[in-house]
Amino acid sequence: MPEVKEGEKLKLLELKSEEKFTEPPNRYSEAGLIKELEARGIGRPSTYASIMKTLEEREYVRKEGKTLFPTDVGEVVSDFLENNFANYISDTFTAEMEDELDEISRGEREYGKTLKDFYIPFSKEIKIKEKLEKATNLGEAPQDIKCPKCGSSMIIKLSKNGKFYSCSKYPDCAGALKLDGTEMAGPKETGELCPECGEKKGGKLVTREGKFGSFISCSRYPKCKFIKKDEAEEAKKRTGIHCPLCKTGEISERRGRFGIFYSCSNYPDCKFNMKSKPTGRICEICGSLMMEGTKTIPERCSNKNCVNHNPHKIAKIK
Ligand SMILES: [Zn+2]
Ligand SMILES: [Zn+2]
Ligand SMILES: [Zn+2]
Ligand SMILES: [Zn+2]
Repeated sequence: MPEVKEGEKLKLLELKSEEKFTEPPNRYSEAGLIKELEARGIGRPSTYASIMKTLEEREYVRKEGKTLFPTDVGEVVSDFLENNFANYISDTFTAEMEDELDEISRGEREYGKTLKDFYIPFSKEIKIKEKLEKATNLGEAPQDIKCPKCGSSMIIKLSKNGKFYSCSKYPDCAGALKLDGTEMAGPKETGELCPECGEKKGGKLVTREGKFGSFISCSRYPKCKFIKKDEAEEAKKRTGIHCPLCKTGEISERRGRFGIFYSCSNYPDCKFNMKSKPTGRICEICGSLMMEGTKTIPERCSNKNCVNHNPHKIAKIK
């Protein structure tokens, strides 16, 4: 180094900037993972295959070549277990359990007591955790990511298709982004107002993708639960028979907690209902609607207090 006098100006010759990235953790291959399990005393040769199968079937990992990468689902499940069942997924717990099972198989340990000691506290723990919120919320999105619809901050969420950014105002705002920043095609507006809340709250009808195909519901779901019924499906449920109570409704098929029944289309204003499909004929005794019966009694009165409700009993009296 040259000598430098006090007060002498120095010339900067070069500025080197070096960026250091955090090295991603080394990933296991299947064989490597099994070796690791073996080393930690988790699993037995007979269970390795099923452990691998579970990881793959539940899509906790994806394979790239021979390397295993955790999926978003895998990471969420792993975090959830670590946060809530830490002692049960610890190496020592699993290894000790395996040893105890080995001892049972050698007849050195009592089977009933061992399982009881494990199961009773475990099932209690599960009961407590049942009330936990679903692990779909993965925390806040980076600050510079804003909702494309309203500009609010966003939250990282997990859907069937992996992570995405969801507006923090959801469900009032349906703004959503893919992780690459492109807007997600969410529910599509049909251009109609929600018949239940549209005038008061501005709910709009939107087409959504559900488990059983697309359906039309209110944009304010879950605050408004309106779902537009499929008209073709509805038509099949109509019987063409007028309600005898309010005279304006039509008897239609409905599905309740105890199965199918028939009620007035003006429900809940008109509460008329009957157990089986009306046949269109009127009871000769009381004037109520007749309904389909069983194999042995093809038709009976829908009025429970009418003798014709149990026509087989009339036959006996005669
Ligand atoms: Zn928004
Ligand atoms: Zn609505
Ligand atoms: Zn009615
Ligand atoms: Zn009758």
